[in-house]
Amino acid sequence: MTSATESALLAKVPDTLFIGGAWVESTSGRSLDVQDPATGVVIKTIADASVEDGARAMDAAAEAQESWGATPARVRGEILRKTFDLLQERKEDFALLMTLEMGKPLSEARGEVGYGGEFLRWFSEEAVRIGGHYGANPEGTGRMIVTHLPVGPSFLITPWNFPLAMATRKIAPAIAAGCTMVVKPAALTPLTTLYLATLLEEAGLPKGVLNIVTTSKSGELSSPIIADPRLRKLSFTGSTPVGVSLLKEAANGVLRTSMELGGNAPFVVFEDADLDAAVDGAMLAKFRNVGEACTAANRFIVHESIADEFAIRVTEKVKAMKIGRGTEDGVTIGPLINAAAVKKASDLVDDAVARGATVLTGGSALEGEGTFYEPTVVSGVAAGSDILREEIFGPVLSIITFTDEADAVAKANDTEYGLVSYVFTKDLARGQRLIESIQTGMMGLNVGVLSNAAAPFGGVKQSGIGREGGSEGIGEYLETKYVLTPNPFA
Ligand code: NAP
Repeated sequence: MTSATESALLAKVPDTLFIGGAWVESTSGRSLDVQDPATGVVIKTIADASVEDGARAMDAAAEAQESWGATPARVRGEILRKTFDLLQERKEDFALLMTLEMGKPLSEARGEVGYGGEFLRWFSEEAVRIGGHYGANPEGTGRMIVTHLPVGPSFLITPWNFPLAMATRKIAPAIAAGCTMVVKPAALTPLTTLYLATLLEEAGLPKGVLNIVTTSKSGELSSPIIADPRLRKLSFTGSTPVGVSLLKEAANGVLRTSMELGGNAPFVVFEDADLDAAVDGAMLAKFRNVGEACTAANRFIVHESIADEFAIRVTEKVKAMKIGRGTEDGVTIGPLINAAAVKKASDLVDDAVARGATVLTGGSALEGEGTFYEPTVVSGVAAGSDILREEIFGPVLSIITFTDEADAVAKANDTEYGLVSYVFTKDLARGQRLIESIQTGMMGLNVGVLSNAAAPFGGVKQSGIGREGGSEGIGEYLETKYVLTPNPFA
């Protein structure tokens, strides 16, 4: 059942598409149900965009590009800053909305409002620092000008696991850089993006700069947009297989692409680590967002001399976690996003156990309403187990051991992914070696969570291309232009 507060909030969220500055019905005549994963109840029914709606959104973005690209950076930055301020006023609304559509505990949803909001503030400040440079060429015969211009209309596709932050991490730099956009949120969690659009509208974003199409037919709607010759950029966050297929489509138009894809993060604990810090870091790196994070630690690689102690300590903490609907007081583990996610966690644990692993706590799906899986610890996981190869995306902490630094590095790098790694050691020189020898785009050195709007987020290997956040984030939406003029003194 949804409470009166929840119903009042849901009534404020638009249920139509946002195209050319207007809230419009879909031409498909279809609708899309959004469910609360904790109860299975449909919380809102919204427009389900057709291919034609996608084309209308692309038309609006293309039409608005010239004037938006020419809008002063200060104006673009101030719209973002105003949106940030509006978000602070409605942070409780956004937190509750994310808990309702995605399931995460309310305290974590509040954390996401903080993190997601920071992209609005950070890029409001970056907009005016795009800059360029001017100088003599080495021969002295001319003057070289290097400037940065908006890439142009961009297509932004976001996943369901961080409904606000994954949207602001793309929308804010695109706005700051002067790009117009079509945004396609995940069908499972479209409400937060629709609600965010009302803030951007209120902050004065001109019509056509932001267009939102919610759809149950993501492939069907996206392919014509990607093939549209007016599109200049595709930014995608989601799974590696979908990213690979979108990269192939983007290749036809030689589009600029940013790909934030899957992970299989190693969490390495050395024998000299501060074990209390490592255990606290492990709980954050594994169980934040119910394990449904691309940055979630997937493989705990612990020195053989401390593995038993580490397992005992994390198991004790995991046993104290409280499962339930994210709106209930004290809940630390909400539902997984759907039944397929529960089956995946279940299958991975069953496979590990069949190959000899021991379940120290948890290990089962919950019966009854909602899609819950117990927070789980498995140790003694055998090499070759699926859980070491696949992204778990659920609350399962799996432990293997290593003998020395070379063995730890080999095990950490034994994956096609390379998004993030976590290392716990007090040995500074070893930490410095691992920064270079572990193949990931990011590393938490003695910390279990590292995302920050001011930092370049992204992976290597099959975890992606490009960076979001930091000063790099705006560069993803800018084209570099070089100009040569004759030496004015010659
Ligand atoms: P997903 O299935 O790949 O979906 C991501 C987005 O792509 C959704 O909006 C989805 O729409 C859309 N999509 C799916 N098939 C498409 C197609 N053929 N054409 C166009 N769009 C398509 O991933 P997910 O399950 O939502 O998210 C989990 C994955 O995202 C994990 O692998 C996680 O590691 C990764 N992730 C990575 C980062 C990062 O920064 N590296 C951050 C968060 C998540 P529908 O939902 O409507 O199908």
